[in-house]
Amino acid sequence: MKRAAKEAGEKKRVNRGPVSEIDLSALQHNLATVRRLANNRPVIAVVKADAYGHGAVAVSKRLIDEGVSHLAVAYTEEAKVLRDSGIKAKILVLFDRTDISDYFMHDLIPVIHDVKIAEIFSREAMSRGIRIPVHVKIDTGMGRAGLNPSNAVSDILTIAALDGLVVTGLMSHFSEADLSDRSYAFQQIKLFNRIRASVTDKLHRPLMSHMANSAAILSLDDAFFDGVRPGLILYGCSPFGDERYGLMPVMKVKTKILLIRTFPAGTPVSYGRTFITKRDSRIAIVPVGYADGYSRMFSNNAEMLVRGKRVPVAGRVCMDVTMADVTDVDGIAEGDEVVIVGRQGAETIFAEELSSRINTIPYDIMTSLGSRSRREYIQ
Ligand SMILES: *Cc1c(COP(=O)(O)O)cnc(C)c1O
Repeated sequence: MKRAAKEAGEKKRVNRGPVSEIDLSALQHNLATVRRLANNRPVIAVVKADAYGHGAVAVSKRLIDEGVSHLAVAYTEEAKVLRDSGIKAKILVLFDRTDISDYFMHDLIPVIHDVKIAEIFSREAMSRGIRIPVHVKIDTGMGRAGLNPSNAVSDILTIAALDGLVVTGLMSHFSEADLSDRSYAFQQIKLFNRIRASVTDKLHRPLMSHMANSAAILSLDDAFFDGVRPGLILYGCSPFGDERYGLMPVMKVKTKILLIRTFPAGTPVSYGRTFITKRDSRIAIVPVGYADGYSRMFSNNAEMLVRGKRVPVAGRVCMDVTMADVTDVDGIAEGDEVVIVGRQGAETIFAEELSSRINTIPYDIMTSLGSRSRREYIQ
């Protein structure tokens, strides 16, 4: 048991080709942007999924140094990693309830999604002779976890009356704050407001209310309430595509050219011959593949940066390597840096660009690439 836990904690990444460079000063810049937009309201920084692939411990420590008071993760295991690294900030756990003793042992704040769960926490708290702070979540239209709006007020009053619990926060989550048509988001805010007003009136005390994710922070100041809950924009990605709000990408994923081959016109490149050279070509073999989180959907469908120039992916992405057509890059050499996502010279490949090429979202690009590469931090 102990041994298994130790092994899990010490799980070491095997060094493969790609390195992700995490720029913590860009993170600081993005936090300042969030605070400016949210008029200095408290920030609950969302660092789930290893801080979207950026490394939750280093990211959280920097955010705390910059004055962030609350962190949010999805699972208690994620919170334990933060506590083990010495982080003392308040930590909200968005989903997990597999082992509720973790909440008590590591001083975590559960998000309560229904009365039954609240009762379980209440019993555990009473048996330990303490009171545990909780935030209650209302499903105002996301269709995921949370109290049904129709019973929310009475449910919250029931929860607030349970021994061993102190309801300190009230929250909800947007379904589509990133759309240009924000009418659904406004409906969610209205519903949240109504429930919140009724609850605070009956409890005779305010609860820290929070609802705004990244998209709402950029576009819906009615959703700011008593704190904001950004993830994406802290990492420098925009939920609104090309409109970037001055955000700075925190993650750069880079690798080095392994080999350069010279092929005559008419040569097929990579599995399935989906790319055939049209001229005498130089093809770079780049050590990043779908095993590193570089989606196979980027086959013939993405660009990389070398010597500050964009070069196209040639043929299918393989498990460990991807080919790029570098014929037009002067002076290119084996060992040259290749940037998969991030800036090189005057050019930048944004995660948003990669995600739109394969019909996904930048969250997916960052968690895929960032969680499987070796990390280097820049202060
Ligand atoms: C992930 C998550 C967020 C952060 O969303 P972003 O779009 O990354 O800003 C906020 N709140 C909840 C409940 C979440 O699950």
